[in-house]
Amino acid sequence: MANILITNDDGIHSDGLLALYESLEPVGKVTVIAPDRPRSASGHAITLHKPLRADKVPLAGGAYGYSSNGTPADCVCLGALKIVEGPVDLVVAGINRGPNLGFDLTYSGTVSAAMEAAVMGISSFAISITTHEAEFGFGVAGAFARHVADILLARKLPSGMFLNVNLPDAPSEQITGVEITRQGVRHYDGRVETRSDPMGRTYYWLGGDLPVDVLEEGTDVKAIADNKISITPIDLDLTATAMIESLREWSVTQFPLGPAR
Ligand code: MN
Repeated sequence: MANILITNDDGIHSDGLLALYESLEPVGKVTVIAPDRPRSASGHAITLHKPLRADKVPLAGGAYGYSSNGTPADCVCLGALKIVEGPVDLVVAGINRGPNLGFDLTYSGTVSAAMEAAVMGISSFAISITTHEAEFGFGVAGAFARHVADILLARKLPSGMFLNVNLPDAPSEQITGVEITRQGVRHYDGRVETRSDPMGRTYYWLGGDLPVDVLEEGTDVKAIADNKISITPIDLDLTATAMIESLREWSVTQFPLGPAR
């Protein structure tokens, strides 16, 4: 039976994590280890300077999981190297409440958990619904998670690669297809708000504004705008290959080396 490790960045008691657990349970032995509190937008942080805990806690529906004071990436490390007995065949992060599209990937704890698995050489994917309200529930996302899990357990992803899956904010009958996409452009403008506390001191709040999407064909943001399920293969290799020649032309390499100075 396949060993599946699931985590998220919304916290151990998130309904999306429970939906993921229930949808993957028929596929293998599922171990849950997730942050003890919301850790969205925590990126790929790992904890090096304080003790990490993983306490067994009951989940809704009778199952149990491990609640950790660590980050999503910590949970993947702890789960794969300590908690799960034997090798982990698949890591799934989600089901996240909220999109992970375009530049979101650089902030996302959900995506970073899948990325950490890729670093460790374990097949993985991140899965998100592109709404924070989840008014249509996690039914389609759960079924799609199982569909992708079946495929990744049968086929090996190339080393250093993983998948980023997003589902549109729509009921199943309005979802128009499944598209393999590339990472698009989504950025946040005017995202620092200035406010005043009761003592009259200034404070700031990040992330208030709506994202700006560049709706280019073939991208994750465009597929979601078209009510499609988006699957983007992601590579740990962040090299901008197109820049290599330009950098040479900019004479960056022409730097006099030699005697110490
Ligand atoms: Mn989240």
